[in-house]
Amino acid sequence: MTRRVIVAANWKMNGDSALVDSMISGLSDMESSNVEVIICPSFPYLSDLNQKIKAADLDNIIQVGSQTVSKFVGGAHTGEVSTTMLNDLSIKYVIVGHSERRSVYNETSEQVASKVHAVLDAGLNPILCIGETEAERADGKIESVLLSQIQPVIDEIGIERFSDVVISYEPVWAIGTGKAASSAMAQETHYFIRQLIAKQSKQVAANISLLYGGSVNAANCEELFAQPDIDGGLVGGASLQAEQFKIICSAA
Ligand code: PEP
Repeated sequence: MTRRVIVAANWKMNGDSALVDSMISGLSDMESSNVEVIICPSFPYLSDLNQKIKAADLDNIIQVGSQTVSKFVGGAHTGEVSTTMLNDLSIKYVIVGHSERRSVYNETSEQVASKVHAVLDAGLNPILCIGETEAERADGKIESVLLSQIQPVIDEIGIERFSDVVISYEPVWAIGTGKAASSAMAQETHYFIRQLIAKQSKQVAANISLLYGGSVNAANCEELFAQPDIDGGLVGGASLQAEQFKIICSAA
């Protein structure tokens, strides 16, 4: 797969039917561009959002994604949602390994790797989140932490298939804090990630899409997205307001 420019909205556990409706009307004048726009609401709203996007003729511009998925395809897994179910709802993207899943729900990098595998096997597009905490950055461990999050996925699926993965670099200290990484800092880390992948395949490194996430907003998006190794963003808080989200999408 070739390098794509993507802006994905992560609504987290926010929103309701009213937000689905207001987002559809707020984004109704969005025009088609080279940017893939994805909205990831909570599970209960996936189908409603997807159907309303189609009804509003926005399905060639906006796609729907889920915020996580089970690594299992079905059976006795109470509370889980499978890739088969997402396919049934025509959902195309899945966020995997968000730092909140890792820190609050103890998802390990090996479990994240199994989920990425399940997502790819189902023909869906994984958005793999990686990123270091503030303490890890202060201790000079950024590179070893990112490698420990990426390598289990490459080991699980193989380097060739890794180009079908979208990576979102999200420094944990920047998520939901209002303290985005500076564009220089984000570029430096994205460059490092691309070089790290290039050691295993130059072609995959050149083609993989690397998004930045962590307090992206209408004021900082342009500078972040102008960096050569940043191919768009994963946006939390600012994606809950259609006007701000539109500005972010058009800056990508
Ligand atoms: C996120 O949820 O992935 C995120 C980056 O959130 P925020 O934009 O609010 O920091």
